Amino acid sequence: MRLLAVRDRCAPIVTNRAQIRGWTDKAAAMLPCMARPPNDELAPALLKGLVASQSFKMVLSSACLLAGVTHIAFAVLFYQSQVVAMSWVNVGSVLTYVLAAALLRRDQVAAGMFVMIFEVAAHAILAVITVGWESGFHYYLLIVIPVFLANQVNKWPFKIAFATTLTVSYVALDWYLRKATPMFEMSATTLAYLHRFNLVTTIAILSGLTVLYVHLITQAEARLHELATTDSLTGLMNRRCMLDALAREQALRQRKPHPSTVLLVDIDHFKKLNDTFGHNMGDWALKAVAEVLKNGVREMDFVARWGGEEFLIVLPHASIEGARPVAERLRLSISELRFPANDHPLRVSATLGLTEMGIGEEADQAIQRADAALYKGKSEGRNQVVVSSAPVLQHA
Ligand code: GH3
Ligand code: MG
Ligand code: MG
Repeated sequence: MRLLAVRDRCAPIVTNRAQIRGWTDKAAAMLPCMARPPNDELAPALLKGLVASQSFKMVLSSACLLAGVTHIAFAVLFYQSQVVAMSWVNVGSVLTYVLAAALLRRDQVAAGMFVMIFEVAAHAILAVITVGWESGFHYYLLIVIPVFLANQVNKWPFKIAFATTLTVSYVALDWYLRKATPMFEMSATTLAYLHRFNLVTTIAILSGLTVLYVHLITQAEARLHELATTDSLTGLMNRRCMLDALAREQALRQRKPHPSTVLLVDIDHFKKLNDTFGHNMGDWALKAVAEVLKNGVREMDFVARWGGEEFLIVLPHASIEGARPVAERLRLSISELRFPANDHPLRVSATLGLTEMGIGEEADQAIQRADAALYKGKSEGRNQVVVSSAPVLQHA
């Protein structure tokens, strides 16, 4: 829910290399076959390939399962109808899909894809030779093209060559087989039903593939947006997202003036905390403080991790008088945090700098004022809220 809130408040997708690198590392750790990105430049490219190929593998695996089950059903159906030869053809297809599934499981996506393409093409061609072009089995060749073009394994020249070869072969088969006599003659009615069945099934598969691709793209977009706008440790907005939120808030205030305050929060002696209790406990403290801040303000307020152990909060529609008790409450809650058990010696406190944004003032200026107030609080003993008076405000 909170991520959705962050997403809603942030501008369109931006690429944060550090986060993408983190994500790539995680993905690489999950997949032993992936090498770690050797440098910054390679990370986004690697990420793109990795995520895309994993999605593509998922599409192929789903298709493999569906096709395998369908061919088992056909094998049984033909066997019961005493068309034993066709039953064996379907058993062969099932075995081919088992092979493709095994290759996909081992991350041999290209090999798995080619086995599947071979099965679809061979089965379709065999079927139209056996029962005639009018049966409509050739429609299944159409499925191969979008699947092949969408793959992230092969390069475009190869894809185009493959698609062209398939198209030419399709047209040649149409030209040759349309007039040829099939090996097994079926009644015109059976052929007509078979034709419609194959046509509808092909349309259903193509539609299913489209829906699946759209779903995967939407998911990938959402994930990328989340990575680009969220701080991975605390789950808060990151700095970039906060800058966008601030710009929007300032624009709103230009149109309809209202008071807004910014609050800069800095954990006291955090370096010492890290040195004494270790970096993991430091991270634990950061998450706990983030949680306090997130839960201590209204849903409409913005909370971001601004830097290492610094947080920035924007309280729209709140004057200094309104925001001061909020800041005091946050300070108190932070000082009451106990890690990770009640008897642990670790304690944290924070110093907070509060100021009101002026109408027409750059957000930067207000943040600098809050920073100056915070610095004053540090020099005056920490664990306190310091208010910096706002510039002359023009709002009513
Ligand atoms: P002050 O009271 O004056 O704010 O002192 P401080 O020690 O809190 O400030 P200082 O800027 O000297 O140190 C901040 C420390 O925060 C240094 C850095 O190692 C640590 N830090 C920054 N980001 C992270 C993080 O993600 N996790 C952990 N555990 N530590 C972090
Ligand atoms: Mg600091
Ligand atoms: Mg600090």
